[in-house]
Amino acid sequence: MTVAEATDVKTYEKHYINGEWVEPASPGEFLEVVNASTEEIMARVPKGNAADVDRAVAAARAAFETWQTSTIEERCEMLGKISQGLMARLPEIAMTVSKEVGMPLKLSQIIQAGLPATTFGNYATILQATQFEEKIGNSLVIKEPVGVIGCITPWNYPLHQIANKVAPAIAAGCTVVLKPSEVAPSTAFILAEVIHTAGLPKGVFNLVAGTGPEVGEAMAGHADVDMINFTGSTRAGRRVSEVAAATIKRVALELGGKSASIVLDDADLEAAIPGTFNQAFMNSGQTCTAPTRLLVPESKYAEAVEIAKKTAESFTLGDPTTDAGKIGPLITESQRERVRGYIAKGVAEGARLVTGGAGAPEDLPRGYYVKPTVFADVTNDMTIAREEIFGPVMSILAYKDEEDAIRIANDSDYGLSGAVWSSDDDRAQRVARRMRTGQVNINGGAFNPLAPFGGYKQSGHGRELGKYGLEEFLEVKSMQM
Ligand code: NAD
Repeated sequence: MTVAEATDVKTYEKHYINGEWVEPASPGEFLEVVNASTEEIMARVPKGNAADVDRAVAAARAAFETWQTSTIEERCEMLGKISQGLMARLPEIAMTVSKEVGMPLKLSQIIQAGLPATTFGNYATILQATQFEEKIGNSLVIKEPVGVIGCITPWNYPLHQIANKVAPAIAAGCTVVLKPSEVAPSTAFILAEVIHTAGLPKGVFNLVAGTGPEVGEAMAGHADVDMINFTGSTRAGRRVSEVAAATIKRVALELGGKSASIVLDDADLEAAIPGTFNQAFMNSGQTCTAPTRLLVPESKYAEAVEIAKKTAESFTLGDPTTDAGKIGPLITESQRERVRGYIAKGVAEGARLVTGGAGAPEDLPRGYYVKPTVFADVTNDMTIAREEIFGPVMSILAYKDEEDAIRIANDSDYGLSGAVWSSDDDRAQRVARRMRTGQVNINGGAFNPLAPFGGYKQSGHGRELGKYGLEEFLEVKSMQM
C-alpha cells in the first residue's frame, strides 16, 4: 500500500551510540512511521541491523566499567535532569504519541508524556531509599548492577514502557541499549536528545532503531548483553526467550493479557460496568491490562448487558489530536484488520453482538477507527474470551456464584491483571487474593506507578516500577567472612 506523506515528516537519520548521533551501518534504509488518524507518513527512523547492535553493545559494555561505580548522588542528579528535560518537552511528546498511537491529547499529556517524566524522577527517590548491603551471619550480601541491558519495547505506551526500563536500569548502575517499537519510535529519539542534553556519560544509554527480528534478536542473542528486558506480545517474548537461552542471559518479560473484571452480586452495576469500560477501552483498548472479560452474575445479566451497551455507545470516536472523541483510532491498518477479524470471529462462534461491529464507522473515512463493540452470551472457550484482541471489544460472560466467577477469571493462559467490584471491601479483597494475576484493581482502584507491575503465567515474569522494578536490575553477591 502506498501511503501519502504529511507536510512535516520528521526524519531521524542516525542511531544514538556512545554519546553521539552516528550514521547507521546501512545508511539510507528507513522505517516509516504512520499517523494513526490521517494515515500519512509522519516520521522516518533508521532501519538498524546487527552491526549497529554490535557497536551499541560495545559502547554500553565500555561505559559499564565506570557507570557501575558511579555514586548514588551522580545517578540521582542524572535521573532528575532527564525527568526535567522530558517535562520541558511534554507538549511535544504528548502530541507525537497522539499522532502515532491515537490516544486523545488530554490523556496523552498525562499518561504518555507526564508519567514517564515522573518515573525518571521517582527512581531518584527510590534509589536514595535502597539498601545495597546487608549482613547475614558471617556474610556481607551486596547488590550490584546486572551489567549491559537490552531493552525492547512495544508501541501502545511507548515512552512509558521505555521509562519503566531505562530509568531503573540507569539507577541501578547498568548501561542500556534500547530498541523501541518500529511502529511508534519517535519518543525514544526525543528521550535520547534529552539524555544527551542532561549530560549522561557517553555509552550509558544507546538507541538503535529497527525491527524485532533484525535488531531485537541481535540484542537477545548477543554474548555481551547481560539481560534482556522485554515488553510486547507473548509471541515475540517467547522468541526472545529462545534466542536469549543460548547465552543463559537474564530475561524479564512483560507480555499480553486477557484480564477479567468480576462484578460481584452486591456491586453497584452503574459504577462497576462503566468503571470496567473506562479501563478496558482506554487507548482504544490497546492496553495490556485491559479487563475485556466482564464477568457478571446470571441473576443480573440482562441489566448488565443494557448498561454495557449504553456505556460502550458513550465512547465517541474522533481525532485524538483535537480531543474530538473519547477514544481515537487504532495504531495501524494491520491492527485494525486484526481487531475486525476478532469481531467477525465472535459473531461466527455464536456470541451476540450488542453494539458496534466489524464495519467501518461511517463518519470517519480516514484513520484506523474501530467501533466500540460489545458481545453478550460469550463463553470462556470462545476465541474472543481467550485471545488478546487489543481493540475496543468487550465480552460479557455470566457466572453462577463467586466460586464460578473466580474459576472463569483464572481459566486463562494469561495472568496480568484483573478487577473486582463489590460493596463489601473484605469480600472484594478475598476474591482478589484468589486471582492468579500480578495486579487486581478493587472498585476502580487507580494505577499506582510505585506499585510492582507484571504478570503471572504467559503474561511474563519479572516486575517493573517502584522498588521492585529496581531489583530486576541488581545481582546479589554474598561475601563470607
Ligand atoms: P510486539 O511483540 O509485536 O513488539 C514488541 C517489541 O518486540 C517491538 O519492539 C518489536 O520490534 C519487538 N520484537 C518483535 N519480534 C521480535 C523478535 N523476534 N525478537 C526480538 N524482538 C522482537 O508487541 P507490540 O505489538 O509492539 O505491543 C503489543 C503487545 O505488547 C500486546 O501483546 C500487549 O499486551 C503487550 N504489552 C504488554 C505490556 C506489559 O507490561 N505486560 C505492556 C504493554 C504492551
